Amino acid sequence: MPFYHTVSDDELPHIQHLYHVRNSRLFIKDLEYILKHYRPVDLHQLTEHIEGDKLLPEKSFFLSFDDGLSECYSIIAPILKQKGIPATFFLNSDFVDNKGLMFRYKSSLLISHLQKSESAEKLLRHKFKEHKLPFRNTKESLLSVRWNQETLLDEIGEECGMDFDNFLKEKKPYLTTPQIVEMISDGFTFGSHSQNHPTYNKLSPDKQIEQTVLSQEFLCKNFGLDYKAFAFPFTDSGVSAAFFERILKDENFQLTFGGAGLKNEKIKGQLQRFGMEKESPQDAKQQIHSEYCYYLIKSIFGKNVIRRD
Ligand SMILES: [Zn+2]
Repeated sequence: MPFYHTVSDDELPHIQHLYHVRNSRLFIKDLEYILKHYRPVDLHQLTEHIEGDKLLPEKSFFLSFDDGLSECYSIIAPILKQKGIPATFFLNSDFVDNKGLMFRYKSSLLISHLQKSESAEKLLRHKFKEHKLPFRNTKESLLSVRWNQETLLDEIGEECGMDFDNFLKEKKPYLTTPQIVEMISDGFTFGSHSQNHPTYNKLSPDKQIEQTVLSQEFLCKNFGLDYKAFAFPFTDSGVSAAFFERILKDENFQLTFGGAGLKNEKIKGQLQRFGMEKESPQDAKQQIHSEYCYYLIKSIFGKNVIRRD
């Protein structure tokens, strides 16, 4: 289950300091390798397999994309359609239609904006001190800001003339409602990815449920979805078994997804994917090969299965 965020032939200042984005040529190369060795399955086939033990085609793969970025519509969907590959897109409900910007993207934008400025470090040092946070250098410090410290990024943006609202309005980095509607009519499936991308193990159990249920409710209500799927923002590490009990049983989500790499889960309905946008870019062949190698090594020590309290 490989997953990506986006694919772009242009530099994306809101992402370039976070992870390595594939260009369309490399993305197509990935897909061609994967298609040569694996059969694509969609979310519904995967659900039937997990819920009803219906067999999947031998050597199958499930493709998904997180964060609902606009290139999913402009670049990714046309390529997938052409190749006949189904996929699921996981969205943050607060950001659909460019209503808001994820805090990590703010960090990356600020780095792009400030890295060459000599006076920036002085301002940042001051702002970090005000927020009682350690300052090292522009890039490292901006990347160390967490979800609950987002106001710091907003304040820095305001003081250094980086207008996030204007960026949203001009660049439209996220998918819009009409684009999502068109993708659904093309057969793509959608799931939730929380409201605004927090780290779940830093939230209270109630807030974890709220972020999940409300973001899914937004999708079901606005796009008439009759299924529920959720992918964790950042990591599901440290999320308790009680969360899955609520979401998969009481709230009737069919599937939930993590991004911990090739691993097995004790919890039925929770599946692990592996990210394709590693810092040192590898092609699909190398990446899938190393996932299997890690899996085998972990299995020797019994670390290939995730157990939860
Ligand atoms: Zn995400």
